[in-house]
Amino acid sequence: MIPFNRPYLTGNEKDNIAEALASRKLAGDGMFTKKCHAWFEKKYGFKKALLTTSCTDALEMCALLLDIKVGDEVIIPSYTFVSTANAFALRGATIKFADSQADNPNIDPAEIERLITTRTRAIVVVHYAGVACDMDRILALASMHNLVVVEDAAQAIDSYHNGLPLGSLGALSAFSFHETKNIICGEGGLLAINDQRYVVRAEIIREKGTNRSSFFRGEVDKYGWVDVGSSFLPSDMLAAFLYAQIESLDQIQNERRRVWDRYYQNLVDGAKRGWFDIPFIPQYATNNAHMFYLVCRNIDERTKLIDTLKLNGISAVFHYLSLHSSPYFSKVHDGQKLANSDRYTDCLVRLPLFSELADNQVDMISDLIMTLYSKACIS
Ligand SMILES: *Cc1c(COP(=O)(O)O)cnc(C)c1O
Repeated sequence: MIPFNRPYLTGNEKDNIAEALASRKLAGDGMFTKKCHAWFEKKYGFKKALLTTSCTDALEMCALLLDIKVGDEVIIPSYTFVSTANAFALRGATIKFADSQADNPNIDPAEIERLITTRTRAIVVVHYAGVACDMDRILALASMHNLVVVEDAAQAIDSYHNGLPLGSLGALSAFSFHETKNIICGEGGLLAINDQRYVVRAEIIREKGTNRSSFFRGEVDKYGWVDVGSSFLPSDMLAAFLYAQIESLDQIQNERRRVWDRYYQNLVDGAKRGWFDIPFIPQYATNNAHMFYLVCRNIDERTKLIDTLKLNGISAVFHYLSLHSSPYFSKVHDGQKLANSDRYTDCLVRLPLFSELADNQVDMISDLIMTLYSKACIS
């Protein structure tokens, strides 16, 4: 069986964790957490990097930092993971769902324009598959209407928009190190802060609403309850794991790109024949090889494709179900049809992609797909 994902281990995770154990400092913000923070700040130019227990938590921190309240409107793509919306729904925000672009699943800037009202507070963008949203247009809209941009960069580590790292463009950004992402620690995340005004409060919110971080730096002589907050910091053992992955980032990315490029070469002809679409990378975006997907012509063809691959021992999987038509949200959705989001819901399928997927496995998967279409098993 070829799984959809196989978490990659560099081999150095155990040594790092042993070092963390030997230090007898197992809680958050230990030596490895500090190393991770410094690395992210240096490599991507974030004003402040703070590890969190998940990307979901980093997004919840964003909603707290922006003081999102009942009645505030937040614009979010419908084609995304629940956490993107939940973080803001938890604060009582009114979620305004936007459609995706026709040529890729990212939020359509024209949709953002349609949804902006006097109550809009923030725009949350999701760089789907690690491919940048149209940030020039989005940032221009945000500055024209005085809105904060939050990047859900869960899938977007080491990817760029016109040369600038994703996660450095919004005021706040959230990354994920869940085992399905490019670099991992099982469960983990990062809040990246690019606007200085959020830095002090982010540390407080992450430390249960206390100024414990300043206390440990010797800036105050006691710490106490100074704001709302929760426990968002991961154990240093997780940071130790993550640091091993960080140190192998280039190697991991090269292997993922090898797989991605091979799928592309193998399947581009099927796209030219109109059998399916393959990922489109706009000029302003890079490809961090987080995901290789096909967009089928309809849901029946996708079902047939997934079933055929499964019969051959290959796990290919569909992705998000449009949040605007979810059981939780459909009752309050404004009725607007989000055609592209629904098309990706019905037609997008992700192929296995991980560092250790061998060339011959990629070829085998690709051949099965090309054969299925060329034999016109799919009408
Ligand atoms: C993976 C993912 C998340 C959630 O990440 P966790 O670390 O599991 O909380 C959020 N948004 C997107 C777009 C994701 O892909």
